[in-house]
Amino acid sequence: MSTSPSCPACDAHAAADLGQAGVCHLWRCACGLVFADRATWRDPYSNKDYYDPAHQPEEHYPLQPTATERDRIVTVQRFAQSGRLLDFGGGIGRTGLAAHAAGFQTIVLEDSHKAVSDGKTHHPEIEWLESKTIPDSIADGSLDVITLFHVLEHLTEPRTVLAQIHRKLRPGGLLVIEVPNWGSHVRRLRGLHWQFVLDHHVNHFTAASLTRLVGKSGFKLGAVEFRRTFAVNETQGWKEPLKKLLCLLGFGDILRCSFLKSNS
Ligand SMILES: [Zn+2]
Repeated sequence: MSTSPSCPACDAHAAADLGQAGVCHLWRCACGLVFADRATWRDPYSNKDYYDPAHQPEEHYPLQPTATERDRIVTVQRFAQSGRLLDFGGGIGRTGLAAHAAGFQTIVLEDSHKAVSDGKTHHPEIEWLESKTIPDSIADGSLDVITLFHVLEHLTEPRTVLAQIHRKLRPGGLLVIEVPNWGSHVRRLRGLHWQFVLDHHVNHFTAASLTRLVGKSGFKLGAVEFRRTFAVNETQGWKEPLKKLLCLLGFGDILRCSFLKSNS
């Protein structure tokens, strides 16, 4: 029996031991966060570029946003129709390109050198920043929207990043976070064999635990949405009603929450 590590969301030590999954020893805090013990976890991509062809297939530029990225921007547009949008951990930039196409002044922040250098070459219509954190060149209170699609589950210090995001957003600004949904029935059925229990996922959220963590950083919840992933061709649009039904029944294993920074 290992000693219970402190929770990265609330610092409590009274976590339940969920066991080992790959390089992650997972614990569940009373606050609801499921997390990997940072003392034993090793970043599988440290000193490597995740977008190197060794990890990811080479992309064919110019990129086209797919239905997945366009759907993400539809969520943004529920609360914000224009302005300066930063996609944090934006990868090769498909979500950023969808935001640009929707009229946002778009910045993609990404720490992969390859993703950013390829992006600058092929997509100069959006701004690229090679960094793990939002640099000082972005003034506090100057962003209207920040999005994190499949980022927060990777961050060993989520509170530090959320505090910075809060500073960089203007009052009333929008934060959209998408993560795997630990609360889904699919996860319950699959246990630690769930597809999103991965060596590089150090945090696992439910809608409640994500709302609690982000709320403590000064945001109020705007909306909760669930999505269902199937490994199918996107042109199989006839499956959309089935996916929506499964989400309504609690099988949505993607969680997307919109938060607003308070005006005061
Ligand atoms: Zn906790």
